[in-house]
Amino acid sequence: MHIAIYVGLVLGLCSPAPAQQSDVASRLLSHERYEWQLARTPHFDIHYPRYSYASSRLEIIRQRLVDARTLALAHLGVSDYERRGDVFYVDPRQDVLDLIGTRATGLANTEWHFVILVYNPLGDAFDRHEILHVYHENVWGGESQPIDWFREGFSTQTHGYCGPYTVGEMTSFLLKNNLLSPLEETIFSFGEQNEIVRNHQSASLPAYLFARYREDSVRQLWT
Ligand SMILES: [Zn+2]
Repeated sequence: MHIAIYVGLVLGLCSPAPAQQSDVASRLLSHERYEWQLARTPHFDIHYPRYSYASSRLEIIRQRLVDARTLALAHLGVSDYERRGDVFYVDPRQDVLDLIGTRATGLANTEWHFVILVYNPLGDAFDRHEILHVYHENVWGGESQPIDWFREGFSTQTHGYCGPYTVGEMTSFLLKNNLLSPLEETIFSFGEQNEIVRNHQSASLPAYLFARYREDSVRQLWT
């Protein structure tokens, strides 16, 4: 699929949204339509519906979660992080709206250490993005007023892809087609910008900071 068609399809639809609802996990586990199955990796409990797309791809999911954790630790500059996490795979996307009241293809709850991922043949799960959120705010520490452009940019850059396209390809396309916002709006009005635009635009900022400054300086900026 050409990137212009793809971006048209995902604008406003593809970007994972942060949320902090503490009762989401219990609502998910008691959802009457789901017959949850459980699988494990050394660091995650994987919850997936019986007869789902996820159920047919468990080995791939396990490996992706191992890779997501390795990537998160590397990007955060630490060698280990022991606390287990829960990963819920849901389908269709409408269920996320029903459960948490917002449209999202992924969600991270950093306090309760779980992520929810929409996973079906139509699109890849944002596993690296959401797990980075959980690890980032627990390993580096959260903020009462988090720097949204850094948080989302860091996770978007770490995930590396949106569908079949790299973050760089997406950002270049948005730039060439005058779809990016002024930097001031990305920084100071982050919540009002289109999600896919703001996430990809802000991904360039932490990438620049990590390239330009020492890792502990970037961490200091966050904390
Ligand atoms: Zn995010």
